[in-house]
Amino acid sequence: MHQQDDCIFCKIVSGEGHCHLIHEDELTMTYLDIFPSSPGHTLIITKEHFTDIFEATPEALAAVGARSVAVAAALNEELEPAGLGVFQLNKAAAGQTVFHYHMHLIPKYDDAEFSIHSKKLGDPEELSALAEKLHARLA
Ligand code: 5GP
Ligand code: ZN
Repeated sequence: MHQQDDCIFCKIVSGEGHCHLIHEDELTMTYLDIFPSSPGHTLIITKEHFTDIFEATPEALAAVGARSVAVAAALNEELEPAGLGVFQLNKAAAGQTVFHYHMHLIPKYDDAEFSIHSKKLGDPEELSALAEKLHARLA
């Protein structure tokens, strides 16, 4: 499986980098965004390093899409948001900041701002506790 040495998400896949893990299977990994734009902001990534949709295989993207159904349900049940945004950015011009293919699932709460990116680091203890609950729902 192709990995890239200087890629933060590849380091998470190899175990060298830490994440608040929710789910893992052969082709995908699901964890909380460390700069959550809302509580429950989740990333589903391909385990293999693809820079973006222009490099990724249909098989890997299908696995991310299929996984998103169960992750969306778990977020809905655990957090009961008003809605859920699903986003996927390709190339810096479109706002991509980590160049390893991933999908964002971002709960939308009533009366809260809605955006993809946040500059505020999430509280590690809160992220750990939430990841554990979501992990249990997906087990
Ligand atoms: P993009 O802008 O590429 O669509 O999204 C990248 C996302 O990755 C951003 O929402 C950012 O907060 C998140 N992110 C950046 N570095 C890390 C990290 O080390 N761990 C986790 N869990 N998320 C990260
Ligand atoms: Zn990578």
